[in-house]
Amino acid sequence: MSRCARLFVVSGPSGVGKGTLVAKVRANRPQLGLTVSATTRSPRPGEIDGESYYFIDDDEFSRRVEAGEFLEWANVHGHRYGTLKSEVQKNLDAGRSVILEIDVQGGLNVRHAFPGAVLVFIEPPSAEELERRLRGRKTEDEAAIECRLANSRKEMECAPLYDVRIVNDDLDRAADELERTLDSYESDGGTN
Ligand code: ADP
Ligand code: 5GP
Repeated sequence: MSRCARLFVVSGPSGVGKGTLVAKVRANRPQLGLTVSATTRSPRPGEIDGESYYFIDDDEFSRRVEAGEFLEWANVHGHRYGTLKSEVQKNLDAGRSVILEIDVQGGLNVRHAFPGAVLVFIEPPSAEELERRLRGRKTEDEAAIECRLANSRKEMECAPLYDVRIVNDDLDRAADELERTLDSYESDGGTN
């Protein structure tokens, strides 16, 4: 069966498990392309510039917006984040599918900029479980947690606008569903 490299967007509220799910799928699919986003937020302990993100300041971010370097960008939780066109294109040109883990505003903008993109929304099993995961990760202070929980309510309203919705209840089950989604769209040759 012939396969076609596709651009996938994975969105969902902070703490729902996007990073965990995508890491699990990547472990089974080393051929998936990697893209590094740019952000104006500060690195967390252990994050490496050029690997986790390109950590840039506001002026540099504005310069790149003006130069047309972003496929999409958005203000998320008080900082700017953006996908560089060059990061996506180098992978698609090499025949590698790409997964962008980006917020809902960015995801919906990708649909306009790149109509062949497949938008996947990751949902929590419940609001309580989302809060438990976000707090359990221990990467944000209380103010940041409150901001992310408030934003999650608006983000959830965008779920119906996505092509595919996956509930991240059991990690293995949800990762399996995400993999089957990739398979299905890669093998339909971009007609979907
Ligand atoms: P996101 O990337 O969406 O912000 P993370 O991948 O960082 O979220 O996950 C947030 C927390 O939830 C992490 O501590 C992760 O281990 C945990 N987690 C992810 N998926 C599940 C799941 N299916 N069941 C229970 N905990 C999960
Ligand atoms: P974090 O600060 O936890 O790494 O990411 C915060 C949010 O920014 C997440 O919802 C993540 O999906 C989103 N994000 C990360 N990179 C990008 C990007 O390139 N573009 C957009 N629009 N959102 C992004």
